[in-house]
Amino acid sequence: MSRLWSDLTHTLSPYVPGEQPRIPGLIKLNTNESPLGPSPKALAAIAGQATGDLRLYPDPEATELRQVLAAYHGLDPACVFVGNGSDEVLAHAFAALLKHDAPLLFPDISYSFYPVYCRLYGIEAQTIPLDEAFSVRVADYRRRAGAIILPNPNAPTGVALPLADIETLLADHPNAPVVIDEAYVDFGADTAIPLIAAHDNLLVVRTFSKSRALAGLRVGYALGHPSLIAALTRVKDSFNSYPLGRPAQAGAIASVQDEAWFRETLATITATRARMVEDLTALGFETLPSRANFVFTRHLQHSGAALAAALRERAILVRRWDAPRIGDYLRITVGTGEQTDSLLAALSEILNA
Ligand SMILES: *Cc1c(COP(=O)(O)O)cnc(C)c1O
Repeated sequence: MSRLWSDLTHTLSPYVPGEQPRIPGLIKLNTNESPLGPSPKALAAIAGQATGDLRLYPDPEATELRQVLAAYHGLDPACVFVGNGSDEVLAHAFAALLKHDAPLLFPDISYSFYPVYCRLYGIEAQTIPLDEAFSVRVADYRRRAGAIILPNPNAPTGVALPLADIETLLADHPNAPVVIDEAYVDFGADTAIPLIAAHDNLLVVRTFSKSRALAGLRVGYALGHPSLIAALTRVKDSFNSYPLGRPAQAGAIASVQDEAWFRETLATITATRARMVEDLTALGFETLPSRANFVFTRHLQHSGAALAAALRERAILVRRWDAPRIGDYLRITVGTGEQTDSLLAALSEILNA
C-alpha cells in the first residue's frame, strides 16, 4: 500500500503516545492525565454546548477564550494564540518560528514529540545533553542557534529550570525564537510569562490537558509578543482556521474561571506527590526533584524494564523509555491517594518477592 505514499510520508517517524489499553481495574499512571477530573463548571459549560447551534462553525479566532486567557495572565489578547491541544500549538510553532538555517536546539532528554516535528517540517536539530543531575545547563546553549525549545519543567524528568536561567537564554539569543513548553508548570515551577514583556523572542506554550484535567477536550495555547502570535495565526489559517470547537471554547473558558477548583486540585496533587516521593525513597528508589504531576525514579537494585513489566502484570501502567541514560527510570504519574497506595503496595510486593 505504501506505493501510494508521498516521499515525505516515507521519511516520517511518528510519535508513539503512552498506551490507552482497556484492562478492567487498570491503574493508569503512564500519560500524566489528572486523576481528579475537570472542574464541574467546565463540564456544565461543555454540556451546555450540546444544542442545535452545533450546526454552526465555531468562532475561528476563539475571541472570548483568548480574552479570558489574556486577562488571567495579565496580557493583551493579541499576545494569545489557541489551538487544538498544545501539540497542535507546538506543531504550528515549529512551522512558523523554529525553522531557520542554523539548527534548532533542545535537550537530549526531552519531550519526544520535538524530533517528530523536526522530521515533518524538515528542521535541522541539535540536541544538547542534560548535565549529570539531569538539569538544563543554559551555558551549553551558547552556540549558533536558529531557535531553542525546552519544556519547563522538563519532560520526562520533572526537573525545573529557574527563571533566571531562562532569562539568560533569552538574552543570549535575542534574535532567535525561544519556546518554553509549560505543560507542567502549574505543579510547582516558575512560569516565564512575566518575561514576555521584555523579550519579544519568547513564546510560552500551555495546555489544559494536565493541570486542568481536560486532556480529552484538546485545548492548548501560546503566549508571546503579537508578532510571534501573528506568525502562528498565519500557519494556522493555512492549515485549519477552525481548530477549537464550540464545546472546547466554552469548557476552556469555564475552567479558567474556576480558580477555586484549580487551586484545590493542584494542592491535592502536589501533596500526594510529596508523600509518593517519600515512600518511594523508603523502598530504595532514587527520584529526581519533580515540579510536575509525575515523578522520574529508578531503583538502585532493579532494572526499569523488570519493574515496569512486574507492575503491568498487576494492572498498573507506568511509562519507560529504552534510551541512553534513562533506561532504568520509570515515569510515574501522580494519581489519586488510593492509586498511589496501590502503586506503593505493588512495588513493595515486587521488591520483596
Ligand atoms: C502532555 C504534553 C504536551 C501536550 O499536551 P496536549 O495539550 O494534550 O497536546 C506538550 N508538551 C509536553 C512536554 C507534554 O508533556
